[in-house]
Amino acid sequence: MIRSTLHNHTRHCDGKNTAKEMAQAALEAGLTDFGFSGHAPAFFDRESTMASEEAYRQEIRQVQQTFQGTLRIYLGIEQDYLDPVKDRSAYDYVIGSIHNIKVEESYFTFDWTQEKLEELLAALGDRELLPQIYYEYMIDMITSQKPDIIGHFDLVRKLNAGEKYFKEGRAYQKLALNALEVAMESSSVLELNAAGYRYRSTPYPDRFLLDRLLEKGQLVTVQADAHDTSGILANVSKAVEVLKEVGFRSSLQWIKGKWEEVGL
Ligand SMILES: [Zn+2]
Ligand SMILES: [Zn+2]
Repeated sequence: MIRSTLHNHTRHCDGKNTAKEMAQAALEAGLTDFGFSGHAPAFFDRESTMASEEAYRQEIRQVQQTFQGTLRIYLGIEQDYLDPVKDRSAYDYVIGSIHNIKVEESYFTFDWTQEKLEELLAALGDRELLPQIYYEYMIDMITSQKPDIIGHFDLVRKLNAGEKYFKEGRAYQKLALNALEVAMESSSVLELNAAGYRYRSTPYPDRFLLDRLLEKGQLVTVQADAHDTSGILANVSKAVEVLKEVGFRSSLQWIKGKWEEVGL
């Protein structure tokens, strides 16, 4: 049973609800622990990231007070690899994610619209470079930034349904597995991100990566990546079913300020 989630957005970034509305929905959904992970400001993306970290922190602290005694609330942040937060100590946890690729001096978001992704691919020239660069970033992010949680490990697949832009065959799998080995040796926790279902038929990460995680006895944390109140536990039960199918019996949940292994 899922009692806690940490990957949640509000109106401070690209979410649709206030922190208070999100917390209320989390409480109603039966959660005991709930964390906010707004998109940290990124100088190359003003559209989907928060304008002010200070205003964000202030609102989350207020909501923490409001829900004291009913819901444990955590102040986290989702940072992009290409512009991490300056003061990590201001947060209870950091989710490290890759949403952008830099080509020469330009930054391209690859998980937003097909148009933006196509601009990136045009700048790259060779489409197969996209997963290659993405997993290079991933390895560097894990080793140099050491996020507490690795966000949607294979987000690069998001708009690639039907292998529209690049192949997801053996060469791709090798890149992803190689980065996964680095992740498994790190202290970062991987999430099973149920938002994968919004664009693909699987959560992030893909099945072959979950098989490898199980083989190595690694646990994941199940996250909805909610952007509105209706998304609090969206697709989470589906994602849990996938985990069970693979052979997992438990997952990691952040309860009372620490990771706890909880049965699925
Ligand atoms: Zn993200
Ligand atoms: Zn997110």
